[in-house]
Amino acid sequence: MKAMPEFHPDLDLVTEYAAGTLPLAQSACVSMHVSLCVQCRHLAAQLSVLGAALFEELDPAPVGDAQLDAVLARLDEEAPLKYGTSARLAGAVPAILQRLMSGDLSDLSWQAIGRTLRISYLKTGDPDHELALYHIRAGGRIPEHGHRGSEMTLVLAGGFSDADGSYDRGDFLLRRPGDVHAPTALQSEDCICVAVLDAPLQFTGWKFRWMNPFLKLRTG
Ligand SMILES: [Zn+2]
Repeated sequence: MKAMPEFHPDLDLVTEYAAGTLPLAQSACVSMHVSLCVQCRHLAAQLSVLGAALFEELDPAPVGDAQLDAVLARLDEEAPLKYGTSARLAGAVPAILQRLMSGDLSDLSWQAIGRTLRISYLKTGDPDHELALYHIRAGGRIPEHGHRGSEMTLVLAGGFSDADGSYDRGDFLLRRPGDVHAPTALQSEDCICVAVLDAPLQFTGWKFRWMNPFLKLRTG
C-alpha cells in the first residue's frame, strides 16, 4: 500500500468542496478522500481561509486570473507538506462514511450483481446523485461500461486497475461522460470503493447490454 494517495480531485473540485458548493453526495466523496489525504486536506484548509478572506474584502470585483495566480503563488510559499504516518489511517473508515452507513459494513444491505460484485446504496439526501459502496471480490472484474454522466470513485480498501492505471486506498478518480472502462480488483484482496453517479452506468458488452434500461439512479 502507498503511504499517500496518488490520484486526487483537481483544484476546481477541491475549491468547490472548500466553498461548500458541491452537491451533498459529491461533497461526501471528496471529504472521504480529504480525510485520507494530507495534501488535499492542507489545500482545502488553505482555500477555506482564502474564501473567508475574500468575503471580508469590500471591493466586490470578481476574482480574476491575477488573483488566482497570487493565491497559487501563496500556496507555493507554504512549508513543504509532511508525508507522515498520520496520512495512512490504516483500516479506518472516514467519519462521514461511518455516519452514512449508521453501522458496520456487515450491517448494510447488499445487492449482488453476478458473483464478483455487490452494491450497497447509501442515503445522503442528495436528490441528483447516487452514492454507493461497491464490493468487488479479489480478482473480480466489473463488466466494461460507459458513463452517461460523471462518476466519482474513491478506493476505501484493496485496490483495482483498469486500462489507465492502478488505484489503491485513498485514490480518487473522476470519470466523465463518454469514458469507458472495465475495472478489475487486485488479485490479493477484495476491493471496496465509494462511487457517486449522476447518471446510471451503461454496459457496453453484448452480455450485459440488456440490463441498461433497468439501471436507475438511486438518489436521495
Ligand atoms: Zn488528495
